[in-house]
Amino acid sequence: MPKYCLQNIKISLPCEPFNQYKNEVIDDVLHIYFRPTTDAGVCPFCKQKRTVHKWRTIALRAQNVGPHETYWHVDHRVLRCDNCYDYFTEKIPFRFGGTHCTADLAKEICESFDAQNVNVKHKAKEYNMSCYQIKSIHKSYLKQIKEAAPEPEPPELCSVDEFSIEKNHSYATMVIDTIRKVPLYFHKGNAAEDLVPFFSQFSEKFYKKIKAFSMDQNASYNVVVKKYLPGCKRVCDYFHMIKNYNDGVMDRVRARTYRNFRLEGNYEAAERLKHANRLINKKFPENIESEEDWNAKLMLQTMMEENHDLDVCIHMKESLQLLYDKCRDREEMRKGWENWCKMANESRIPELIRFARNKIRWTDEIVNHADYPVSSGVIEGFMNKIKVLKRVAFGYRDFEYFFMRIWQMFLPQELNIKLSNVVWSKYQIFLGGNTNGIEGISS
Ligand SMILES: [Zn+2]
Repeated sequence: MPKYCLQNIKISLPCEPFNQYKNEVIDDVLHIYFRPTTDAGVCPFCKQKRTVHKWRTIALRAQNVGPHETYWHVDHRVLRCDNCYDYFTEKIPFRFGGTHCTADLAKEICESFDAQNVNVKHKAKEYNMSCYQIKSIHKSYLKQIKEAAPEPEPPELCSVDEFSIEKNHSYATMVIDTIRKVPLYFHKGNAAEDLVPFFSQFSEKFYKKIKAFSMDQNASYNVVVKKYLPGCKRVCDYFHMIKNYNDGVMDRVRARTYRNFRLEGNYEAAERLKHANRLINKKFPENIESEEDWNAKLMLQTMMEENHDLDVCIHMKESLQLLYDKCRDREEMRKGWENWCKMANESRIPELIRFARNKIRWTDEIVNHADYPVSSGVIEGFMNKIKVLKRVAFGYRDFEYFFMRIWQMFLPQELNIKLSNVVWSKYQIFLGGNTNGIEGISS
């Protein structure tokens, strides 16, 4: 085992324009001190000599030397031009972004975040740093890759949606390119005005390409889209249509049926229904193959036979799903939808009638789905991934960081690697790995 003679360790990494002048070990922690090697230089504007206004020291966490936690203490200067009265803070080129961390350690930490769903808290423990420090390093990295990212391709079809951020029951707004499956915009809040900044974020060319916008018709985004993109078609998408149906019809009919069963003394059927939320909202594949699906289907059929309203509502949902899945012709879609509403109105089921009455106002948006079908999987996929990230999240009350993590999660792998290379190439000469640059090892 080589032993480090700590007093003699020399960092021969290119840390210009600084050099090392002292080492110290305090409580097993290695402190290495650096100071500038150049003189104060000249003012870039008037070429007069600058003077030292103030000395400062910053402590940067660096990669461990052997088993020792290591800090680089860097003396640097604030320089002044007495002619222009301008101040310049000396740049420390191996410092990562605005963080208290060297570039090589930052790279190690940020690369470990590339694994799926890495938790800030765990990383903090691993590196014996605070969550805040780890988050700042990763956030600085994400900011840098976001800056390096090109403007996204103009989308033809966008979707806007809200998602909950759980704490304080707060919500956020998200816009995605529905076809390329790329997130375009995040904003805290789910009010109409939270969508407004989206329309000034990109170039004019970008917005001209957008032909359709899909959204939940219950939300307030409709008005904003209409105002900023008057020529764009608004689409009532499958995901929200079915979600509204499940909330507004299925859940309510189920609750009412449950109460009726109990009043009738049919406790067995009531119990079955009580736990059947997922079963009722399940979408079965066209050809059922697995035994599990068969059993679920049989169970559902039993329940449907036990109750007329539930039976009707499930059938109505299936025919709505079919219309959305299959119909790609505007006229057919219109006819199919109007027919569906007529059937709903004749059903004598109050929840169903209310749903149809409410949705008939959105007939144009529903018909537009024939031209711009939005697969329900896209939005659902986004929501599920966000849910997972939220679960491993720590310190996500920092929305900017949270949104950047979601954004990165959906970056195509290739682009992610490319952007990462752009960021690290700025620090290239400092990324030898600390131990490669260390002299003074004696055995
Ligand atoms: Zn000057």
